[in-house]
Amino acid sequence: MKISDFIGAREEKIKGLLKDIKKRDKDINAFLTLLENPEIPEGPYSGVPIAIKDNITTEGIRTTCGSKILENFIPPYNATVIEKLRKAGFVVIGKTNMDEFAMGSTTENSAFFPTKNPRDTERVPGGSSGGSAAAVAAGMVPVALGSDTGGSIRQPAALTGVFGFKPTYGVVSRYGLVAYASSLDQIGPLATTVEDIATVMDVISGKDEKDSTTSDVKLNFRGFKDIEISGRNAVIVKEMMEYEGLDSEVAKSFEEFVKTLEKMGVSVRRVSLPTIKYSIATYYIVAPAEVSSNLARFDGIRYGLRVSGENLKELYLKTRNAGFGEEVKRRILLGTFTLSAAYYDAYFEKAQKVRRKISEEMYEVLEDNDYMISPTSPIVAPKIGEKTDPLSLYLMDFYTIPANLAGIPAINIPFGEVRGLPVGMQIMGGRFSDASVLALAWKVEKAMG
Ligand code: GLN
Repeated sequence: MKISDFIGAREEKIKGLLKDIKKRDKDINAFLTLLENPEIPEGPYSGVPIAIKDNITTEGIRTTCGSKILENFIPPYNATVIEKLRKAGFVVIGKTNMDEFAMGSTTENSAFFPTKNPRDTERVPGGSSGGSAAAVAAGMVPVALGSDTGGSIRQPAALTGVFGFKPTYGVVSRYGLVAYASSLDQIGPLATTVEDIATVMDVISGKDEKDSTTSDVKLNFRGFKDIEISGRNAVIVKEMMEYEGLDSEVAKSFEEFVKTLEKMGVSVRRVSLPTIKYSIATYYIVAPAEVSSNLARFDGIRYGLRVSGENLKELYLKTRNAGFGEEVKRRILLGTFTLSAAYYDAYFEKAQKVRRKISEEMYEVLEDNDYMISPTSPIVAPKIGEKTDPLSLYLMDFYTIPANLAGIPAINIPFGEVRGLPVGMQIMGGRFSDASVLALAWKVEKAMG
């Protein structure tokens, strides 16, 4: 399904699509909310349906973040990306399932239900943007928005066999994205073609006065196909390939990917980035610390669920205990611990320094080289219920987290199958080289037919 199939679509076509989704989503559970009568705004993409991850606020449309604490929350305003999509004519048709507050890698942390992988319904679609990935992979919508803090767009894209793009930090406004870890979060698109990824990026990117971390650098998403690829170079990070959790058949697919790039005139060489192996440890200090601060606002007074108590403190405790799931509580506790006076220097401050070091190593190598490549996920989609212990889930993020720590752009390219399941490859680039990352991804897409 592509954007071009829908340009100019009117009510009848959208109604037909929704009817079809309603029926088919019984087996997939990609949607938390499906609209009955979505507005079809005018604009260059009028009539093009889009699904939105449920941590992006939509005026008048329930936005749950996959959490009981926001089960009945109806935001009074639109996120900037939603305003931009509406002005361009896109039709928001529904909100997609996700791991609670985007914490997770399988969508099984949703407080409501797990989403199934359309390529094998006994398996997870990845996460945390699993609903958005499943909706696109199942051909329910041409495009969807997700959010990516440590891989949550790229990893589910890889596990379901679609494209998923995390832009440079600051390229897309986070206004209206319910914050997980603000220094890492970015909104981005999932789609079945690179062209559709570029189209959505062209619409949603840009400086926003409501998000002071947005940049005014103008990126050429419209002209991405004209960017010359031949003669460019890419690096493989030695420490990434030495990762013991890497499935040997995924590693073989990666070798094929390298050959594909070389055939296109991209030279590939290996480099060593000694600090990158600390990425997961660093991320799981930095992200929970930001969680402990960002999620303090869910107190039973200002938003969503309220469980009353004898006094204010009891109300807070009861509300947060009933409203948050296990993983969210774990991260709030971890973050509160590492930020506490006695441990701040040993954990949080140390992690900030390591983050800086990892980023600098990456920037340096990306000054002399155009791209960095890796598999997107070390493994293919696990079965529902197969992976439950938090540590083994955290380890799945090994390839995606570095791009968030450094704020650089990264895309997942669906690249064939391993044991009948989709496998994805990742291309990263220097900060603000987003269009050039898309250009190479597009060449690979074409080369694969
Ligand atoms: N799996 C990672 C986590 O649980 C990434 C999530 C994300 O990118 N939102 O934090």
